[in-house]
Amino acid sequence: MKKLLFVPAMVFALTAVAQKTEKPKEDPAKMKHEMTEFWDPEVAVVTPGQQPSDAPSDAVVLFDGTPESFAANWTNSKGETPVWTVADGCVTVVKGSGIIKSKMEMMDFQLHIEWRTPSVVVGESQGRGNSGIFMQGKYELQVLDNYENRTYRNGQAGSFYKQYAPLVNVCKKPGEWQTYDVIYTAPRFKEDGTVFSPARATVLQNGVLVQNNVSLFGPTEYIGIPKYVAHGASPLVLQEHGNPVSFRNIWVRKL
Ligand code: MG
Repeated sequence: MKKLLFVPAMVFALTAVAQKTEKPKEDPAKMKHEMTEFWDPEVAVVTPGQQPSDAPSDAVVLFDGTPESFAANWTNSKGETPVWTVADGCVTVVKGSGIIKSKMEMMDFQLHIEWRTPSVVVGESQGRGNSGIFMQGKYELQVLDNYENRTYRNGQAGSFYKQYAPLVNVCKKPGEWQTYDVIYTAPRFKEDGTVFSPARATVLQNGVLVQNNVSLFGPTEYIGIPKYVAHGASPLVLQEHGNPVSFRNIWVRKL
């Protein structure tokens, strides 16, 4: 019987506490519009490009189509001048020469890059117009000719290789220029090296959403399970996969 009396008493006590600590309701009549307006600091002014693909005024242009721009901003894996071919306003992979990486290191960024797979189709599946764009040199956004070319879904163009298939296949025909626009947030690590927050990315291919704020599982692995290793700011890397894929109009905005 004692127990039965105790329960209603507890409910009454908790209700009383809840009522006491409840936030008083705001009276909208006493609010003025300026009370919810913030003026400072003023939002930075950025001049957009003529076209959405043109670099805005606060972007760092990593490649503008000229040999000078390429030499100033890119090296091979050893830090030497890369031997990829610069001609006709674009840079093209040279088979057997290895990756190239940006001299600039970055954490969070917005990236615009244009790419073109060879118009003469050679190979199939992963062997057809394969390259890649590695965020911070570790997380591959696949570049591949998937116009009427099946491969495993989490390895096709627009995928984060072997982690996330693209939402749709929006590839243009071989030989046509295509765009990637990427919003990338670098992973953060605790002092003991474990992950505090994973890398995240949103990607538009040819203006169409293909990755929607995905959380990456770790650095790209061809074989095996990705596993994070703590790192800081790192360069952008373009993959050499033996196919003469071309790139142009590469710019980033550090976020
Ligand atoms: Mg690749």
